[in-house]
Amino acid sequence: MELLQKAIQERGTIIGDTIVKVDSFLNHEMDTALLYEIGQEFRRRFQHKPVTKIVTIEAGGIAPALMVGLAFNVPVVYAKKQKSLTMKGDVYIESVYSFTKQVHSDVTISKDRLSPEDHVLIIDDFLANGEAAAGLISILNQAGATVAGIGIVIEKSFQRGRSRLEELGIEVVSLARIARIGEGKIEFLNS
Ligand code: 5GP
Repeated sequence: MELLQKAIQERGTIIGDTIVKVDSFLNHEMDTALLYEIGQEFRRRFQHKPVTKIVTIEAGGIAPALMVGLAFNVPVVYAKKQKSLTMKGDVYIESVYSFTKQVHSDVTISKDRLSPEDHVLIIDDFLANGEAAAGLISILNQAGATVAGIGIVIEKSFQRGRSRLEELGIEVVSLARIARIGEGKIEFLNS
């Protein structure tokens, strides 16, 4: 997606040789027009799938997921990173390792938010090693829901997330695929 690649090149910053910071349009301040286009693009790319629900993980996935939910006219559910008091133990739960924070946390979705009839499109802001997506897949499996696919805004293709998810037979669509980061430059794969 050209508009997105342009935003990453012009407005993103690089931390070390693996992290891309996009606080200027996605992870802190949010560019609503760009996010709207991201939602429309995922709708086009997954129009062959019978999607009934969007699932993401807080916090970075919520904004793009909401736009995808709007485009499909379906509800959006976000997994919470800590079990909250209002959930009363009636939750699906999976432990997820955070690539950026380097800690494990319990990720939960209330059981009444998912059903075996659901065809779920998973949306997240970044794909690195696939930990967050694998945790959400485990939760969807616990609920007996069908994984319709995974939509990623920014994939770092030099990390193992995509191959790990494709090994599970799941379709992965990423709107920007970063081939490598080095010497202050970001290079994209053609996607
Ligand atoms: P994974 O679970 O695939 O290893 O990492 C994806 C998750 O970690 C995403 O939900 C995202 O929040 C965070 N993440 C991974 N890499 C980056 C990155 O380069 N930049 C930012 N901002 N977040 C990242």
